[in-house]
Amino acid sequence: MIVKKTPEQIERMAASGAIQARCLRMLRSKCHPGVTTADLDAAAERFITAQGAEASFKGYRGFPGSICASPNSMVVHGIPGAYELKRGDIVSLDVGVTKDGWVADAAITVPVGPITPQARELLDVTKEALIAGAREARPHNHLGDVSAAVQRQVESRGLSIIRSLVGHGIGRDMHEDPQIPNYGEPGRGPQLEPGMVLAIEPMVNAGGPEVRVGDDNWAVYSADGSLAAHFEFTVAVTEDGPRVLTPWHEE
Ligand code: MG
Repeated sequence: MIVKKTPEQIERMAASGAIQARCLRMLRSKCHPGVTTADLDAAAERFITAQGAEASFKGYRGFPGSICASPNSMVVHGIPGAYELKRGDIVSLDVGVTKDGWVADAAITVPVGPITPQARELLDVTKEALIAGAREARPHNHLGDVSAAVQRQVESRGLSIIRSLVGHGIGRDMHEDPQIPNYGEPGRGPQLEPGMVLAIEPMVNAGGPEVRVGDDNWAVYSADGSLAAHFEFTVAVTEDGPRVLTPWHEE
């Protein structure tokens, strides 16, 4: 069942989302060569705690970090640690913030210094796919319109949607119904209504679509070792159309 939120509850989620977005922008500014993913994790935890909020991922199913930090061929769920960013890397940063019991979840993939044109294309396409999907999160549309818009952006540029990882509804819980695949058919799936809140999150490989789980049982990698990108918004469906609650794209 998809739990709809009242306008007041959406404002609470927007408050969590504002902290989340500022945290991602802060982390993005720290992605320089020599910085470790543990440094980013510590900075995020300090920032979130200082806002009177909590890092939603910490302890989730035993996850040890406050954020997920996933460099290069790692797609998602990277445990922060000793890995030092280097020039030419890309690193996906996924952050959840809980404030007053409401969760906001979003992710960006950040270039570390100059990156190859192929990596730049991967980042641009994945971000554009997220924006295209979010644009469809409006009343009377179906969930399949969101999924299909993401898929179209990615596959028209020759990149691969990862099908085994999906977005999700979000609210008091980080993962609520519905599951949101990054591929699908327009007009299919549940009809969208004001009050639904969706975490839309295309995960894209530069190579093939397959993934594998690493030895720590958390990190997910592209199976062929190709670069991977991940961009995510928490988006509310409102009478006026989609409202991004985690506006990391705004300066
Ligand atoms: Mg998510």
